[in-house]
Amino acid sequence: MRIGAIEAGGTKFICGVGNEQGEILERISFPTEAPEITLEQSVAFFRDKGIEALGIGSFGPIDLDRSGPAYGLVTTTPKPGWAGFDFVGYMKRFFTVPIGFDTDVNAAVFGEAKWGAAKGLDSCVYYTIGTGVGVGVYAEGKLVHGLVHPEGGHILTRRHPEDNFKGVCPFHDDCLEGMASGPAIEKRWGVKGNELPDDHKAWEMEAYYLGQALSGVILLLSPKKVILGGGVMHQEQLFPLVRAQAAQNLNGYVASPAILDDMDDYIVPPALGDNAGLCGALALGIAAI
Ligand code: ADP
Ligand code: ZN
Repeated sequence: MRIGAIEAGGTKFICGVGNEQGEILERISFPTEAPEITLEQSVAFFRDKGIEALGIGSFGPIDLDRSGPAYGLVTTTPKPGWAGFDFVGYMKRFFTVPIGFDTDVNAAVFGEAKWGAAKGLDSCVYYTIGTGVGVGVYAEGKLVHGLVHPEGGHILTRRHPEDNFKGVCPFHDDCLEGMASGPAIEKRWGVKGNELPDDHKAWEMEAYYLGQALSGVILLLSPKKVILGGGVMHQEQLFPLVRAQAAQNLNGYVASPAILDDMDDYIVPPALGDNAGLCGALALGIAAI
């Protein structure tokens, strides 16, 4: 079976065709422009591929209320042309196959639960720390949507005592995305994160913020695995720092061996690597059948 998958990012789109084993057979990538341009490119890619379902993991916020009139729309994004755009409706005009639609991070957590670092587990959270910070939640064997969908990148953080940086989120002072996203690191230190040395103060500060988010989510949802992906997490030295910070915040309170003894296997990078998003979209497509 051939399944279409779209990882719809705010900066770039990745379209792929894969199978039920989670293998990506072919793929293409292009910058995200106005929806008519980018979706026309996507439609052209899938047109002759004989796909039997399509999965879409999208940047957002998006409307996921299947019983409401706005299902499948991108809602309040500042990206030109996309606010209020009917993403699913547009694709339906060209493809009569079942379409699965969810947030990019829910797609990523779904892919990791099916084929990756959380394989065989019924709960897991996935954080992406990149241009923005997003959180996908898989609990009791299902993706969590709730009222809208989780937006854990915008929870407020306690400020690092030596941090005078204002934050980059236009909505909130001191939210996780505002303090710890890739653009926050770049603006605070004046250079991109990948140009900072491994032992730079930036990483301790970054771990201070991420560790807060993780101890919070561990207390709130009790996930069986915590996966950290996105461009910023290519800085591998962050993993031990974040684990230590989360453990320090929890201070022995959550009495699970996963947290007390085996943090290295509990807070982990995505096993699917940079394919997590596209494989996740593939998993959404399979689930839509
Ligand atoms: P997006 O979030 O747009 O899908 P990424 O996950 O690659 O894309 O995130 C891009 C952000 O991550 C940028 O702010 C970039 O500076 C930062 N970034 C990318 N690679 C690295 C790296 N190796 N080290 C630190 N920061 C990085
Ligand atoms: Zn915010």
